[in-house]
Amino acid sequence: MIDFEYFHTLLPQAIGAKNGPIAPTITPSAAFGYADAQEAEGIFCGDVAKPLYARMGNPTNAKLESVLAKIDDADSALVTASGMGALSMVLTAFLNSGDKVLCIGGFFGGTYALMTETLPRLGITASFCQTNDFEKIEERLKKDVAIVVIESISNPSLNIPDIEKIADLCNHYNTLLLVDNTVTPLLIQPLKMGADIIIYSTTKNISGHSGALGGAALFRSVTPNDKLKAPKYVHLHKIINKMGTKAMLAICKKRAMRDYGMSANAFGSFITMLGLETLSLRIERVSKSAEIIALALDKALVGIKVIHPALTTHPDHALYQKLYPQGAGSLLALDVGDKARAFKLINATKLVTQTANIGDNRTLALHMKSTIFRDFDTQSWEILGITDGLIRISVGLENPQDIIDDFITAAKTI
Ligand SMILES: *Cc1c(COP(=O)(O)O)cnc(C)c1O
Repeated sequence: MIDFEYFHTLLPQAIGAKNGPIAPTITPSAAFGYADAQEAEGIFCGDVAKPLYARMGNPTNAKLESVLAKIDDADSALVTASGMGALSMVLTAFLNSGDKVLCIGGFFGGTYALMTETLPRLGITASFCQTNDFEKIEERLKKDVAIVVIESISNPSLNIPDIEKIADLCNHYNTLLLVDNTVTPLLIQPLKMGADIIIYSTTKNISGHSGALGGAALFRSVTPNDKLKAPKYVHLHKIINKMGTKAMLAICKKRAMRDYGMSANAFGSFITMLGLETLSLRIERVSKSAEIIALALDKALVGIKVIHPALTTHPDHALYQKLYPQGAGSLLALDVGDKARAFKLINATKLVTQTANIGDNRTLALHMKSTIFRDFDTQSWEILGITDGLIRISVGLENPQDIIDDFITAAKTI
């Protein structure tokens, strides 16, 4: 069980300062002066812990990184310009042309496009497996997978991978495991379950107010044992001795952020921290509400399929009960059958904001196939669980009964 009370104290205390300005300080400088030539050399070789140049880090970003590392007991964290920035940073830092990615479960549209369109242009290819197809998963791992990527609960298909089981397999086959924990921050802690790296789109629940685009990668501690585990850490070896436990962070900084520049900015990190102070209150609330709303709509709506793992009809219901006793974030989905009915229903709601975001303070909804997933082919829609009438809902902080009533009234019009 997650102790929300622990985080209710931790987050505001970790972000607010007792002495001087309480809100985080914004340092908007792109460059930083060095005291002398010796200090400049020290900063560049890593012996002096001072800012080098904002592409490589900034004091406001560093504060956000230190707090984000705490939420998953990570050894280190690195913030980025967006969630996609975090994902592409990790993948391009760790993978070489010719490497293979194994994607398990359903995926956010941007991630799927990165895997199937952009990374292949760099010679990195991805294959896809369903969450419960362990025969296929193991068969792929036995071959030559360099990294496994999963979403803690897939957006928007709401499949749940068995993180511990997958982590054990990855460990056995010396494969890195990357978990996109965007939808379930605090609700699950993948590093403690054996994952190596977590990425977040902080744009979603962590920031919460649709005020700042941002992302983060969190890393587990690299131990001396890891050196023995070639080829899992083949890309780490060159700097593993120098960087010690933070070798994964160093790889991302030096092999991706330095060269591609997906760096976060100070103002975005400031806004993100204002949201992060209340993350535990909000994620506890919306996870509970999403479950309440899914159960109520499932009972009330006729001819509309409600998708949420709290429902006994959901294929991952047992795993949901095991992994997410306090809920799995703000998402649920409705399948109303076809596009025309979906458009009618969303347009008839009064409280819903139609947008491509999730994890906001307000309830959001969007028809999936005509928007985020519109460019994909039939096979991709099948892999990702995108049906003609699929509406994704991200529940906000409103009274759940108001949201239930809104959808029931809207459903009467279709
Ligand atoms: C939104 C999202 C992303 C991408 O994050 P951006 O901040 O929009 O770049 C990645 N993964 C998941 C699960 C998301 O919901």
